[in-house]
Amino acid sequence: MTFITVGCLVTGTEVIPGVPHVIGVRTEVGETIDARVVVDAGGRRSPLSSLIEAAGGRRPPEHAFEAGFVYNTRYYRGPQLPEPRDDLLSAIGSISVLTLPGDNGWWSVTLYHSPRDKQMRKVRDPKAFGRVLQALPNHAHWANGDPQGDIFSMAATANTTREFVVDGKPCATGVVPLGDAWGFTNPSIGRGITLGLMHVVDMAPAIAEHIDDPLQLAGEWERRTGDRPARWHAATVGFDRLRAPQVDAFLQGLDDPFDPSDPSVAGPRAFASAAHYDPQVLQWFFEVTGCFTLPGDVMARQGVLERVREVASSAPPYSSPGPNRAELEEVLA
Ligand SMILES: Cc1cc2nc3c(=O)[nH]c(=O)nc-3n(C[C@H](O)[C@H](O)[C@H](O)COP(=O)(O)OP(=O)(O)OC[C@H]3O[C@@H](n4cnc5c(N)ncnc54)[C@H](O)[C@@H]3O)c2cc1C
Repeated sequence: MTFITVGCLVTGTEVIPGVPHVIGVRTEVGETIDARVVVDAGGRRSPLSSLIEAAGGRRPPEHAFEAGFVYNTRYYRGPQLPEPRDDLLSAIGSISVLTLPGDNGWWSVTLYHSPRDKQMRKVRDPKAFGRVLQALPNHAHWANGDPQGDIFSMAATANTTREFVVDGKPCATGVVPLGDAWGFTNPSIGRGITLGLMHVVDMAPAIAEHIDDPLQLAGEWERRTGDRPARWHAATVGFDRLRAPQVDAFLQGLDDPFDPSDPSVAGPRAFASAAHYDPQVLQWFFEVTGCFTLPGDVMARQGVLERVREVASSAPPYSSPGPNRAELEEVLA
């Protein structure tokens, strides 16, 4: 397999005065590749913004929401995958746990926390990691396997989008960013690949249709990106907007920072809780977590809101069992 690294954009006659028009790329070894349209699938570290700037264009503004999580992951192997006894992603006070089944008898456990949580940094030590996992009644059995390798730690990336069309004017024509090169999210709910594919599926017909009309193509990129990928991106970031302030408050021993009667908080919480008690609500919830239907579109269906409210109010709010902050610090000591 040959890897080529794109080093700069090749530009031609401008379609919009002052806006670079891309007609190809030059690789780092100096080879020029002509293109009627350049598709940037360079991922979250895509150099496109810098390349547009280097070509004399406006740097696309970036919009970021930093949730600031630190992930600590351990892999295990065993003859049988542990059975799920709770959500694969569970929020437990100031920490979260991700239990992910793999193939060939592999699985992983991730404990994640705020970067300000100095105590939780201790879980980089396998013994502390094991102690915290054992303190989580619905997750402890995920340690019943052979640990594979060290604990891998990683700081999450900020949820980010790049605005390639500003006030109707593209930062460059002849180039379209797709997938993470346009927008990426904190990976804890595992949606990046789905959102990227969604973007490609939505854009491929537009590229085919407007391949020789850079202005139309830029407009279609903006419209189609806004129609579906951007709405899913925002819905995904919504998880962090509700969770990150809560983590920070619990870490300091404070109460839940949200007003529980605020519908933008109460709604998603009621939906998530009711999914633990009612199969029909669970099906709707999976439509959302599986990226089939946006939460607002599910709720807009006749009878859904009423059913969610009814189920949520007839049972205690679901919460995964685990230590409170003081108990967690004892486990970590
Ligand atoms: C730790 C972690 C866990 C994740 N877990 C999940 C998950 O469970 N589920 C999920 O759906 N998503 C997950 N994601 C997100 C997912 O990986 C991304 O959303 C997805 O890979 C984006 O695909 P992409 O094709 O847009 O970019 P990428 O997969 O990043 O591909 C971009 C490619 O472009 C290449 N490139 C960059 N610059 C240049 C250049 N100048 N010249 C040539 N090539 C270049 C890069 O080398 C790379 O190969 C996770 C991400 C991280 C970081």
